[in-house]
Parts: sequence; structure tokens; C-alpha cells
Amino acid sequence: MNPDMILIRFGEYTIKGKNRGMFEKRMLQHVKRAVHSYKNVQVQHTYGRIYLELNGEPYGEIAERLKDIFGISSFSPIMRTVSDLEEIRRTAVEVMRSLPKPPATFKVVVKRVDKKFPHDTQELNHLVGGHVLRAFPELKVNVREPEVELRIEIQPEGTYVFSDIVPAAGGYPYGTNGKAVLLLSGGIDSPVAGYLAMRQGLELEAVHFHSYPFTSEKAKEKVIDLVRRLSHYSGVAIKLHLVSFTEIQTALAQSGHDSLIITLMRRSMLRIAQQIAEKTDALGIVSGDSLGQVASQTLGSMNVIGRTTDLPLLRPLLTMDKNEIIRIARQIDTFDTSILPYEDCCTLFVPRSPSTNPKLALVEQCEEAITNLQEMIAEAVATTEVMRISPEKPVVAQTAGEDHWF
Ligand code: ATP
Ligand code: MG
Repeated sequence: MNPDMILIRFGEYTIKGKNRGMFEKRMLQHVKRAVHSYKNVQVQHTYGRIYLELNGEPYGEIAERLKDIFGISSFSPIMRTVSDLEEIRRTAVEVMRSLPKPPATFKVVVKRVDKKFPHDTQELNHLVGGHVLRAFPELKVNVREPEVELRIEIQPEGTYVFSDIVPAAGGYPYGTNGKAVLLLSGGIDSPVAGYLAMRQGLELEAVHFHSYPFTSEKAKEKVIDLVRRLSHYSGVAIKLHLVSFTEIQTALAQSGHDSLIITLMRRSMLRIAQQIAEKTDALGIVSGDSLGQVASQTLGSMNVIGRTTDLPLLRPLLTMDKNEIIRIARQIDTFDTSILPYEDCCTLFVPRSPSTNPKLALVEQCEEAITNLQEMIAEAVATTEVMRISPEKPVVAQTAGEDHWF
């Protein structure tokens, strides 16, 4: 059974009074883009809800797309029929039969918008409920805690019948909560951090540090692939800033403080990320840090590293267990790419015993001893290569001085 329509419900942001109009507009754009290739689908927007009129287009495929759109909390396939008791009863049985799993209990919920319909809500409840019970002898009514609610809405233009509620991604529409840069390594964690930040409505530009020629072309392709996977969820292109870290990394490695190298590298990365954020009007820096996971992610390390920037450091994975992070990485389809064995710039000079509690004064001394660190940082920002990556289209590299992408 291919349903006639899909009812799309929005998430928690409906409570944010004055932004509601903007959220709904953005939501509508994302939904329209997602169903764009299904030419017969008609999108209707009424206050607080979106309806898709399928006109024969495949529900299953469209449902898969809707599940990944941020800001949609759930949706329901709907059958539409004429407002006639026998037709409503027949459709109700069909809808119950099409549920993914046969329920043990149900209740009928009637909404009679069209007051001209001859039966009132109570009557219709019994007339339809009784019919459904006869069609499914195992099924029972449970008014207080039914497994499914069979909803019947009598509207002037016809009657809508539905019961399945499919959960979707939730969160906020992409780009409705401001912009941040994402520190994207080739690892498991940072793509998951990016996904979660995007789900909360943040628009992202990704920043990746490489140490070419010590890191390979394959490592770069891996990061491009990760951004492409993330762009599936944004629905629009994501920019990737590829920063050459070779010179800085080499200078830091020669500083003589083996145990502080990772701390020093992270501080320089943050300074560069901050400058890129300023250039791109981003107001935060997202990373894949998870408390205690490695030496650079202890509270002591985060304290010393974080002091290099005034921007908020956003760490969506801070309190997550590695298994939880891996579960999300698999779910969002970044895991298999993340575990490809190409070296990251940080794995090149891994110290034997990285400090878990670096001293700020010592770290600052090391940085001061590198005479041209600020120049190298400015140079890394200036020579950053920028790409624009969309779900299906080829990668577009930005030419120098170009500001407009679309
Ligand atoms: P990931 O799996 O995301 O690489 P990780 O557990 O390996 O994380 P680290 O290597 O300590 O942790 O990195 C911590 C965070 O720093 C990463 O999640 C990422 O946000 C950022 N980061 C590390 N290396 C890079 C890089 N080469 N380019 C951009 N960001 C990086
Ligand atoms: Mg890493």
C-alpha cells in the first residue's frame, strides 16, 4: 500500500516563539530539496506542519530521506478517503494492516473538523473501532496506554486515516542556530561531533590540518569523503578548509619538549581555526574531544589548549563513551571511512608519553622560543585550500580571492 500523503511533524523548536517562522521556512526548504527529484510530490505547509501529497511517488524511498532531515521529529504515512462511513472503515483496516508490526492494543482517536459529517466523535469511535476489532480478532482496545493510536481526521476535503509514527532525526533545521567551524581529523570522533552539532542546527565549515608530503593524498581523500558524508545531512554543500600544518608541526617537534608536542600542536590548530572562524563569520569551534579519551583530552590539557581562543569551544562528545560514539559513527555511515588506515598529521610525531597535565607557563615558554610561530600561523591561514563539497556533485576547489560559491 502506497500512502496518499505524509504528515511531517516538527521538533522541539516549535516552542521558540519568535524564531518559529524562520525555522519553519528553513524546514520547508530542506524538505523541498530532499524530495526535489520526485516530480509528482506536492509540498503543502500549514501552521506547524508539512504535508507531502505523494501522487503515486514511492513512500519507502521518500521516508528514508525524511528520516535524515534535522528538525523533523516524526512523520506519518496517511491514507485519504472520502468522508463516508464504509470507506473510512475499510481504510482504517488497511492502515492497521500496513503497520510494520501488528500491535496487541489500540485506540481510535477521532477529530471531526467537518461538522457536517453525520456521526459525532463518540459514535465514530465505536463504529470504526468495532469494525477494526472484528477484522483483527487478537487486537484489544486500551484507552490509557495503547500501542498504536488509529487517527481519523474528518476534514472538509476528505478523511485522513493514519497510525504509524516514524521517528526522524529531531533537532533543529540545519543552519538555524548559527555557524561554527568543525575541527575534522580523519578519525572516528570528529565526524560524529560534526553530525551532532549539525543536528542541533549549527551550520559548519570543516577545517582539516594535513602535513603533506608526510601525510598522503589518500588521507586528504578520506577527509573529503567524510565531509561528503556529512553533507548528506546538511542537504547543502559544506566547505572544507585544508590547512598545511607541515612547517608548524616540524618547528614544534624541534622544540625539545617531547611530552608537550600534542599540546603545542593543538594550541596552534586552535589559533588557526579561530582565524578561519573570523574570516567566515563563524562563532564557535567544534571538536571531537571526549573527556579523558587520550592525553590531550584530560581536563588539564583542555584547559591549557583552550586558552588560545576566545571563541566558545563546543565538544558534543565530551561526556560520551567510545562505544556510544562508534554506534553513532556506524549509524551515520562515517565509521568505515574513519577506520581507513591513512596517517593523520598528529600520528606522525606521537610522543612516547604525552603530558596529561601540561603546565601553561612551560607551554608558553616553548611557544615564545619559536621566533616566527605567529608568522607561520598567518601563512598557514593565508595558504589554506578551500573546497566545496556536496552530497553527489564533484568537489569544487575555490580559486584564490573568490568569495562567492553559489
Ligand atoms: P578523532 O577520532 O576525531 O581524530 P581522536 O580521539 O583521535 O579524535 P585527537 O586525535 O586527540 O582525538 O583529536 C582531538 C580532536 O582534535 C579531534 O576530534 C578533532 O576535532 C581535532 N583534530 C585532531 N587532529 C586534527 C586534524 N588533523 N585536523 C583537524 N582537526 C583535528
Ligand atoms: Mg585523531
